[in-house]
Amino acid sequence: MTREQRLEAIRRRPEVSVLIVGGGINGVGLLRELALEGVDTLLVEKSDFASGASSASTRIIHGGLRYLENGEFRLVRESLRERNRLLKNAPHYVRPLPTTIPIFSWTKGLFSAPARFLGLKVRPNDRGALLIRIGLSLYDLLAGKQAVLPAHQFKSRPLSLAARPQLNPEIVCTAVYYDAWISYPERLCVELVLDAGSQCSAAHALNYVRLESANGDTVVLQDQVGSQRFEIKPRIVVNATGAWIDFTNRALGRQSRYIGGTKGSHLVLEHPELLAATQGQMLYFANADGRICIFYPYYGKVIAGSTDIPVSDPETAICEEDEVDYILESVRQVFPTLPRLRDRSNIFYRFCGVRPLPRSDASTPGEISRDHSCEIIPAGNGINFPVYSLIGGKWTTFRAFGEQVADRILHQLARSRSASSANLPIGGGKGYPTTAATKSAWLASLQGKTHLPAQRLGELLDRYGTRAAEVAQFLSAGPDQPLRSLPEYTRREIQFLASHESIVRLDDLILRRTIMALLGQLSLEVLEELATVLAAELAWSPDRTQQEIARTVQLLSKVHGMRLPIP
Ligand SMILES: Cc1cc2nc3c(=O)[nH]c(=O)nc-3n(C[C@H](O)[C@H](O)[C@H](O)COP(=O)(O)OP(=O)(O)OC[C@H]3O[C@@H](n4cnc5c(N)ncnc54)[C@H](O)[C@@H]3O)c2cc1C
Repeated sequence: MTREQRLEAIRRRPEVSVLIVGGGINGVGLLRELALEGVDTLLVEKSDFASGASSASTRIIHGGLRYLENGEFRLVRESLRERNRLLKNAPHYVRPLPTTIPIFSWTKGLFSAPARFLGLKVRPNDRGALLIRIGLSLYDLLAGKQAVLPAHQFKSRPLSLAARPQLNPEIVCTAVYYDAWISYPERLCVELVLDAGSQCSAAHALNYVRLESANGDTVVLQDQVGSQRFEIKPRIVVNATGAWIDFTNRALGRQSRYIGGTKGSHLVLEHPELLAATQGQMLYFANADGRICIFYPYYGKVIAGSTDIPVSDPETAICEEDEVDYILESVRQVFPTLPRLRDRSNIFYRFCGVRPLPRSDASTPGEISRDHSCEIIPAGNGINFPVYSLIGGKWTTFRAFGEQVADRILHQLARSRSASSANLPIGGGKGYPTTAATKSAWLASLQGKTHLPAQRLGELLDRYGTRAAEVAQFLSAGPDQPLRSLPEYTRREIQFLASHESIVRLDDLILRRTIMALLGQLSLEVLEELATVLAAELAWSPDRTQQEIARTVQLLSKVHGMRLPIP
């Protein structure tokens, strides 16, 4: 169905069992859970799928080593289990990430960490080797029998400095442990939407549709593209709007004070010496204020972050100059002699998002739990349906969170669970070849069908997982050519994304269906060429095409610190 057909179908039949508001990973994860059970569900997202916190994360799929200090063993165990499942169910995007911790003392934190564990209000400070040893041993223990990644190791100071001469010589030792990284979180979110649609014909998701208001048994939605309003009649509403949860509850005529969001910013750097110094690993360390900072290699660039600053309005959160200073200073703490680390010209992209954390009176944002919960406001006050608010959570735990909420919804709908997503591959993770031998056999078979060059098919496999088969067949079904301005992509590849992946605006393509912006592949020429291809596919007028280019240039400048000439 096209977007218009979907909108029309919903207008004609406005009754739906579940309305999910918010197309971040938590809303989309729940949509897939309900689709698995055949529940008729509509998800609406005011912007694009994964355009809130879900596209601003550090991109680490992790157990949460730091949460051990808060005594959150259940959360760490659940996160490790979900990390391991994602490694298995989404191997095309989620991969192991060795992580080095540079350690600057033997004993620091030995008092403050247990004190916080006992519930005393003590600011986190630097963590010494003994504390980290205890934490990593527990981490390995909690990964337990299902451990799929190697256990941690410690390296002496001389060995650490011999292996990485650029490391701060003040270290006493280093530790190495394993978590995972996700290369394309925004795409995984879209793949979950697509999976939900193919599992259940009554599961629909619409981007660029905003929840406006509610009355009685009716919710008013506003199409952000065609400007039309329409009404739907849900039995249950799920508020999965992350940092916007309290605003959305207000629009639904309910009052809540669930969220105390904190913004987090990241920088993407083009810095060959820093990239080389990472040696393919993440560096994970505590800043002087006790906050955890990280940096790691990402397709030839380095992602570094993040900050943790309370904010009240998620709409206005952007990466500020003092956050840039903070992040660069953190990196210098680890590699003090690397050249040009004060030079902002190495930063070609910034991103920022607001963590939908539960409201808390913790003395520092780092102490607020990253656990998830679901609060239910029953029908009442002139509203005839209950509202379930999905609070907190992490990218890593979206499946477990979705499963838990789906169970409560199924109970409310007097249905019982018949399927589990625990071992269900996602999108291009289905049948993904994980060894060199199975990969070449898979590529050879696809080459036989499509006659595309092996290298091109390899790129498609990296971008789309086994969905590359569908993409490649589309590419080979008609005349194709590389983009003039960005030959890594072809016209038909962009057409495929436009026609199969709910692209509505130009920035959906460059920020979320691909990682062009994150890899610094954009110029005005690239945007113009991409917009021309989208215009033909999505029937944009010349005016609309120019508006999309101008809007995207402005967005890249204001939100992502990229300077492109004004068209
Ligand atoms: C800086 C940072 C770093 C992080 N790092 C990690 C990490 O490394 N690993 C990890 O596991 N987790 C990480 N997280 C946490 C994780 O990203 C979030 O917990 C998760 O993305 C929250 O998803 P969500 O769906 O609840 O919210 P969001 O992704 O914010 O989605 C909410 C959506 O609701 C939409 N919306 C709002 N109002 C309306 C309305 N009226 N109508 C329709 N739609 C509406 C918004 O547009 C938005 O897209 C990080 C988060 C941040 C911010």
